[in-house]
Amino acid sequence: MAEINNFIKTIMQNDLDSGKVDKIATRFPPEPNAYLHIGHARAIITNFELAKAFNGTTNLRFDDTNPAKEDKEFVDGIIEDLAWLGYKPTNVFYGSDYFDATYEKAILLIKKGLAYVDDLSQEEMSKYRGTLTEPGKNSPCRDRSIEENLKLFEEMKNGKYPDGAKTLRAKIDMAHPNINMRDPAMYRILHINHHRQGTKWCIYPMYDFAHPLQDSFEGITHSLCSLEYDNHRILYDWFIEKCEMKHIPHQYEFGRLNITNTIMSKRYLRALVDAKKVSGYDDPRMPTLCGLRRRGFTADSIRNFILATGLSRVNSTVESDALDEELRNDLKLKALRPNAIINPLKVIIDNYPEGQVEYMDCPNNQENEELGSRKISFSKEVYIEREDFIEEKPNKKWKRLALGVEVRLMHAYFITATSVEKDELGNITCVHATYDPETKSGTGFDARKPNGNIHYVDAKTAIPAEFRLFEPLMVPDTEENKDLDFMEKLNPNSIEIKKGFVEESLKNTQPLEHFQFIRNGYYVTDKDSTDKELVFNRTCGLKSSFKM
Ligand code: ATP
Ligand code: MG
Repeated sequence: MAEINNFIKTIMQNDLDSGKVDKIATRFPPEPNAYLHIGHARAIITNFELAKAFNGTTNLRFDDTNPAKEDKEFVDGIIEDLAWLGYKPTNVFYGSDYFDATYEKAILLIKKGLAYVDDLSQEEMSKYRGTLTEPGKNSPCRDRSIEENLKLFEEMKNGKYPDGAKTLRAKIDMAHPNINMRDPAMYRILHINHHRQGTKWCIYPMYDFAHPLQDSFEGITHSLCSLEYDNHRILYDWFIEKCEMKHIPHQYEFGRLNITNTIMSKRYLRALVDAKKVSGYDDPRMPTLCGLRRRGFTADSIRNFILATGLSRVNSTVESDALDEELRNDLKLKALRPNAIINPLKVIIDNYPEGQVEYMDCPNNQENEELGSRKISFSKEVYIEREDFIEEKPNKKWKRLALGVEVRLMHAYFITATSVEKDELGNITCVHATYDPETKSGTGFDARKPNGNIHYVDAKTAIPAEFRLFEPLMVPDTEENKDLDFMEKLNPNSIEIKKGFVEESLKNTQPLEHFQFIRNGYYVTDKDSTDKELVFNRTCGLKSSFKM
């Protein structure tokens, strides 16, 4: 695996060299309000790999300070995804574990005259906040006495007031050029059951107040986050200083990862699930880590993809093909390469003895002998890909089967197509052929060159299989659709189901087993697979430049 190298690593090295810190401690702080997506993988890998590079520590901390949208299901999903990516957090913490300590720090700020209880409503507060070009206005409650603030805040905590009736705010500067510094909210009232705290609290700290304190309580040295928190850093430092935190963490921002044609916001992913546009968070079309896993991407392919995209202080957009390429690199030599027929056409070999079966030697991976070999059966009826046959050979470039044309069935015999059967609509229902017993694979026959080499599955032993082929969930942006809601930009052809066959050796395949189906692409066994009908997801094609 590639080594992590970026500007934050340089900062960490300098901080260690200068003695500013004596160890590196990072954290990954997801909000458990949805499953993780591939954008999060950048944050995860950055935090864990950087700490690892310096023998440091990385906590997983659930940012569960907003009980309205959070759920245990997402907590469990996030833990599973992290383990799958290969990361074991030094500790697993919850922001809510610090509610008592955070409350104490709020009291400290009130006592120092640096926080006050405000009666303004949300809308009034935003009106008073001013704009980028105009200063804000002080709230009429700003000059309440410390005693009154202490009493009101305690009453807020004790449940005396309904949601939204009062807010605890930091007292900083309503004319500050950075709007985040214009008396930001620290606590709001929410009478909601918390997934870990139950009804103990009806006031909840805001992210900007809670987050720096949590980092400090945990001894985090480098608090990494994406670029949108850039202009919150000044507030982060203000809370650390004014709350007299013993340990001083520092925030560093990096660019977000975007992928072409891919929605990467939890809010949208949740909307797709809620509207049943996909089968769930793990639908193989989703850019969630559980969806990508089910689609057949490996943890290594995702890690290598993230590391290859690098890290900088600007947001970046990467082509989705780049992830496919990492998957191919990862599995090329590792995956077995069995035969599967996605779009079957039956071939009857008229001169092959009825009832006879032969077993042909077949390497499991032509490029990696270590994976050994197996026997595949051959008999009178076989399936080939419909695309591998045409009645009349159109030109010299056609290197597949046609009437009067001879091809090799891989690892078996040369066959020549002789006639076709059709249904009343004119569709070909089966092809008749003859084989030449002299041409058996492995015998060194070289008197003639076949017009191509196509794969097959023996009809006698074939196992029925469903293949799920995917396209992007969203259609590409165009001039016409650029103003449409994302729900109206869903690709109606994002899933295609094919019914075909796979060879016998796949009989006992289990979910998440990866394969390269010969000439067809990379596939993975789906969790819907049963003994009666196997189900495979296409992860990606063999190569963008691949031509048969
Ligand atoms: P979204 O914007 O998708 O709703 P979020 O940022 O609200 O995600 P959090 O649970 O708060 O989700 O994210 C945890 C961490 O992951 C944060 O530090 C955030 O900066 C980081 N992160 C989220 N999306 C990306 C992305 N696309 N690229 C890089 N880092 C990301
Ligand atoms: Mg967030």
